[in-house]
Amino acid sequence: MYERQVSQVHRISRRDFVKATIAGSIGAAVLPDMTKGQDTKQTETRYIAAYDTELPACLAACRKIVEVHKRFEMPATFFILGKTLDANPAEYRKLLDDPLFEIASHTYTHQMLRDNDFCGSAVSMDERRKEIFKGKEAVERVFERPCIGLRPGCGFDNALRGEPEVLELIKEAGFQYVSSLLWGPDYSLPALLREPFNYDAEGFPDIWELPGHGWHENLLKDHNRWGPRRLTLWPPPFPEAIPHGFCKTPKDEFDVNKVFLDKAIDTDKPFVSLIWHPWSLAKFDPDMKMLELTFTHVRGLRLKACTYAELHKYVCDSGELL
Ligand SMILES: [Zn+2]
Repeated sequence: MYERQVSQVHRISRRDFVKATIAGSIGAAVLPDMTKGQDTKQTETRYIAAYDTELPACLAACRKIVEVHKRFEMPATFFILGKTLDANPAEYRKLLDDPLFEIASHTYTHQMLRDNDFCGSAVSMDERRKEIFKGKEAVERVFERPCIGLRPGCGFDNALRGEPEVLELIKEAGFQYVSSLLWGPDYSLPALLREPFNYDAEGFPDIWELPGHGWHENLLKDHNRWGPRRLTLWPPPFPEAIPHGFCKTPKDEFDVNKVFLDKAIDTDKPFVSLIWHPWSLAKFDPDMKMLELTFTHVRGLRLKACTYAELHKYVCDSGELL
């Protein structure tokens, strides 16, 4: 429902834009203006750099990542595990306390909030409550600002659909969005370019799902040492996004990223965000060349860079307008 409404808004605003461009171009250089109009049209798609920050090695990696973000003036959302944050609170505060960055939760210790085919079974409801509440408390205590978003460890292939008890805890904790749809159908990869939706069907219309897209980049490099696994679907819904083998260079990884960025624009998606982990990025690419390549491409495409919190505001505002 929401997806259809947003694309209608885009269509209307684009038509108006083209009309305005034509009207404003009378007597001027029409062709260059129309070219500009094409470019402007593409910027309706947002780009979010996001990091699942979850291991001791993430701190040193985040120092390098933050340097690239400041150089590119690129916003980001850091989903941080409470336990990881509590191990180095002052360092993380100093590093990430910047208006460019949103700090959100990645639960407290990465326990499963629902069953995941690859990562294991859900823990008890008491444990799930702790994961949700303590994770949020850690972010708010360390950064002294509200934490409105939650990305559950590993994510799921059906988001939190059909999990009203978990959604109740998330609501009670005061989260406004979750980013839990991080797999394709039947726990395949990549996660498809799914659009935001709310949990109205479960009785929580005020909680939004803002998915993640693409590969869990650690798996593209075999950093979990899983080796070959049954990860892709047949027939593949997005064959061009499946590389022939593990990534060997930052350019290989960028080439995979590029497929998602380009496709998000081509198919008029409201946003695109890849699933990245600081520890894995630094292990593979200590100079963060992939980030430079990706951010340069994002700027070239004129994607609107933002955080998940800003996307959340956008989807709420769009809902109110309709
Ligand atoms: Zn994680």
